[in-house]
Amino acid sequence: MAQERVGVPRSSTPGIVSPAIPGRMASLLLSVLYQFDQTQWLTAEELFAHQARQLRLLFSHAARTVPFYGRRFAEAGVDPEAEVTRSTLERLPILRRADLQAAGEAITTTTLPRSHGKMHQIETAGSTGPALRLSGTEVTKVLWRACVIREHLWHGRDLGGRLAAIRWTRQGVAMPPEGAHGDSWGPASGAVYPTGPAALLNVISELPDQAAWLTKEAPDYLISLPSNLMALAGHCIARGIRLPQLKQVMSVGEPVNDQTRRLVREAWGVPLKDSYNSEEAGYLAIQCPLHDVHHIQCENVFVEVVDEEGRACGPGEVGRVVVTPLHNFATPLVRYDLGDYAEVGAPCACGRGLPVLTRILGRRRNRLRLPGGAAVFPDFGDHRAYQAIANAVQRLRFVQRSIDEIECLMTVSAPLVPEQEEQLRALVLRNLGHPFRVTFTSLDEMPPGPRGKSEVFMSEVAG
Ligand SMILES: [Zn+2]
Repeated sequence: MAQERVGVPRSSTPGIVSPAIPGRMASLLLSVLYQFDQTQWLTAEELFAHQARQLRLLFSHAARTVPFYGRRFAEAGVDPEAEVTRSTLERLPILRRADLQAAGEAITTTTLPRSHGKMHQIETAGSTGPALRLSGTEVTKVLWRACVIREHLWHGRDLGGRLAAIRWTRQGVAMPPEGAHGDSWGPASGAVYPTGPAALLNVISELPDQAAWLTKEAPDYLISLPSNLMALAGHCIARGIRLPQLKQVMSVGEPVNDQTRRLVREAWGVPLKDSYNSEEAGYLAIQCPLHDVHHIQCENVFVEVVDEEGRACGPGEVGRVVVTPLHNFATPLVRYDLGDYAEVGAPCACGRGLPVLTRILGRRRNRLRLPGGAAVFPDFGDHRAYQAIANAVQRLRFVQRSIDEIECLMTVSAPLVPEQEEQLRALVLRNLGHPFRVTFTSLDEMPPGPRGKSEVFMSEVAG
């Protein structure tokens, strides 16, 4: 942690402030962070050796105490007690969401070691099929929180600053004009450091309400979903709304693209820092402190990126993200296909051995189907180009209804005239480079997806 700006931890021992003698959770987090500080500089092979030792313990536990895995290891002909190598992993089948749904209770351990603490439920909000019911433990909670703090340290954040979050929350909660307020950044940073205050606004709030709330809150840091940041930054640029206090924008929950980074910088003159996590596996990757790529969080999870045949992708290749959380002994997930696609990167110039993802691209349904049979992650271009044609355009979403038809859903502050629709259509076609039939539908409100996520593009074409 030496090179990052960091405050003095909160001491929980009366009469002692420096060095702090922290309480139990803070001590656990600091001890894990101390190790993270060293492991990040190991080579990729050294990191894999650490993971392999942990995987061996996980596999042994899973095969002994989780009925589903007892069968699965036997069927794959893999000895769960043996040393773990890359070829062991390749022999284990990839686990899909449907497998977990079908297995029901059989994916949960019958015997959680006492040292892993209490189990807690993790609800995963699936957009297809019923939610998965997985469990985490105190150990997975510590790893999650340590990664949260690692992200703050990597990006040199002043934890004494004001944090504003515009995120998904329950209906009717944290609504404008006030939102909701707390006196700490949350259970991760707040457990270790005396942080500044935090404020929360529901992501379903209208853009003018969000901008007014941010102006009033004057945060040092803003966290939100990329789709919301793109629309909000566009809104602020068009109206000259600056947030002079703001130092950084953080994004999470959806793929972030270069346009969003550019818009954020143009709107408020600050960089965007992204992280990639999932309910099932915790922190998967955090943006490098120096470059716009993500470092896989090898200390928390074993991540593979594989092609359609299950082979490991190399630098520059796009494949499916398959994860094995290293410490979840309650509901072990072994080679679980998260449903996301990502692009593998070459080792990072910053010197960290943590492997690189250059882009996180979204899910299978976010791929555009082309009549020739190909599937690509489409680029619909800069949000502002749409607003330049029609200033009334607020939020945009594109849905591929059939192999040759795209519907553009939009919220608008005033109806569009036919000439504007024509120009918008031409822009969509230029961006996609294919003569789709493009239709427009104006909505009063863009319906939010699960947990407030808003997919800029979704295809309804199977394949
Ligand atoms: Zn790096």
